[in-house]
Amino acid sequence: MTVEIGAAVPRSLVEPERMLIDGSWVPARSGQTFPVVDPGTGDEVTRIPEGDAADVDTAVRAARRAFEEERWTGMSSQQRAVVLWRVSDLLEARADELARLESLDVGMPVPAARGMLGEAVNLFRYYAGWADKIHGQSVEIGPGERRLQGITHKEPVGVAGLIVSWNAPLIGVSMKLAPALAAGCTCVVKPSEEASLSVLALVGLLLEAGVPEGVVNVVTGHGPVGAALASHDDVDKVSFTGSTAVGKKIVQAAAGNLKKLSLELGGKSPVIVLPDADLDAVIPGVAAGIFWNSGQICTSGTRLLVHRDIYEDVVQGVAEHAAALKIGYGTESGVDLGPLISQRHLDRVAGFVESGIAEGARIVTGGSRVGDKGYYYEPTVVADADPSMRMIREEIFGPVLGAIPFSDVAEAVAMANDTEYGLAGSVWTRDIATAHTVARKLRTGRIGINVHRAGGVQMPVGGYKQSGWGRENGPEGLDEYLETKSVITLLDR
Ligand code: NAD
Repeated sequence: MTVEIGAAVPRSLVEPERMLIDGSWVPARSGQTFPVVDPGTGDEVTRIPEGDAADVDTAVRAARRAFEEERWTGMSSQQRAVVLWRVSDLLEARADELARLESLDVGMPVPAARGMLGEAVNLFRYYAGWADKIHGQSVEIGPGERRLQGITHKEPVGVAGLIVSWNAPLIGVSMKLAPALAAGCTCVVKPSEEASLSVLALVGLLLEAGVPEGVVNVVTGHGPVGAALASHDDVDKVSFTGSTAVGKKIVQAAAGNLKKLSLELGGKSPVIVLPDADLDAVIPGVAAGIFWNSGQICTSGTRLLVHRDIYEDVVQGVAEHAAALKIGYGTESGVDLGPLISQRHLDRVAGFVESGIAEGARIVTGGSRVGDKGYYYEPTVVADADPSMRMIREEIFGPVLGAIPFSDVAEAVAMANDTEYGLAGSVWTRDIATAHTVARKLRTGRIGINVHRAGGVQMPVGGYKQSGWGRENGPEGLDEYLETKSVITLLDR
C-alpha cells in the first residue's frame, strides 16, 4: 500500500477556521479551533472552529429570525424548487472536487465518494420536485348537529437542528437539508467533529444557489455543540443521525421543550442465505454489503446467517473475495477499502475481533491493522460466531463480518430478530415466495431480496426498535419536517 498525502483543501469550497452563521463565514466566538485529520495518513490538513453553546445560540437566533421574516417561505414554492434544483446542478459541477474533499476527510475511495455525491444530487432534485406539491386536504366532517367544513394545511415545523455522523457526511446532511428546505424550515446544522468539510462546502453551495442568508447555519465542534442544539428551547425539531447511545441522550435533551425528533441510529443488520441461493451473486453481494466504506455504514450486513448445507462454501467464498480487495489511500486507483475514521475507532474495531476470538470464534481472513500510518484495517471474516458473542450483539461499524450457521428458515428469522436493532437486512434465495415471507417476518426498516446494498432517494430508510424513530427519503422524509394544521369553519349562521 502506498500512501499519498492528501491534496490541500480548496479555499473555494471551504474557508479554513470558519463556519456559517446568518450568511457570514465566522470563527467560533471563543476563537478556538481544532484539527481536521486525514485518516489515510493521520496528518492534520486544516483547522475548523470549535463552536460552543454560545455559537449555537447565535445560529438558532439567526435561523429563527430567517423563519419569522419568511426569508425562505416568502419565496413562492416554485422559486424554492428552482433554488433546490440549482443546488443539485452546483453539486454536479463541483463533483470531482467534492468527492476528493470527502475522501480526504473520511478516507473513502474517491469512486465511492462520487457515488455518494450522486445520491446527494438526486436528493436535492427529488425534494425540489416536492417543494410545490406540499398541500393539505379538504375534509368532510360529520354528519352532526352543526354543519362544519374542514381543511388541513401542511406547514414547516420551524427551526430544525440537524445533527449528523461522520461516516457519509455529504449524503447524511443532504438527507436532512433537502426535505427540511423543501418543507420551508430554517436550519442549524451540526456536522461531526470527525468530518465537517463536505458539510461546510455544501452550505457554501446552498448560498450560491440562492438560499437566503440565515436559512441554513452551521456550527462545527464536538458533542457539546450537538447537546446545546438538542436542548435549545427555540429549536422546534431535531433530526439526528448517529449512535443509539447518543440518540438516547438527544431524547432526554429534547424533553425541555418537547421538540419533535427523528433519530437515525445504529444497526446490526442480518444477511440470510438460504440453501437454494445463487452463490455467484451471494458472494460479491455479501462482501459489498459489509466491506463498502470499510463497513462504516449503518445498514452494513454485519451478521451472515447461512444454511448449514452451504455454510463452508459461502464463508470461504466471501473470505477469498475479502482477501482480494485492495486496501489503500482514497485517491489511489483501484482501491476498494480506505482507512477507518480514527485511531480510536481502529482500536474499537480491533477490540471486537479480539473479543470474538476470545469467545471461541475463528478468523477466516483479516483481523489485523495494515501499516502504521493512517488507520487501515483488513476486511475480516470471522466464522463460527455465536449469537451471544459481543461482536454479534454490538455494532462494530467496521469491515468485520461474523458468520453463523442455521438449520431452517424459522431459526434464521429468530436469530436475525434477536437484536436490539432493526435497521436493515437481506435475504438471498431463488424462491421469491420464501423471500417475501422472510421479509415480512424481519423486524427491520429495510430488506433487500438478493441484494444488500440498495436503496434510492424515493425509498424511505429508518429503523425499528433501537435503530431509531421516523424515516428519511421518500415522502415520509418530507413529513418529518411538516406540521399539520386543521382549520374548521362553522357553516351554520
Ligand atoms: P455519534 O453518536 O458519536 O455522533 C453523531 C453526532 O452527534 C456527532 O455530530 C456528534 O458530535 C454528536 N454528538 C455527540 N454527543 C452528543 C450529545 N450528547 N448530544 C448531541 N449530539 C452529540 O455517532 P458517529 O460515531 O458520528 O456515527 C456512527 C453512528 O452513526 C453509528 O452508530 C451508525 O450506525 C450511526 N448511523 C446511522 C445512520 C442511519 O441512517 N440510521 C446513518 C449513518 C450512521
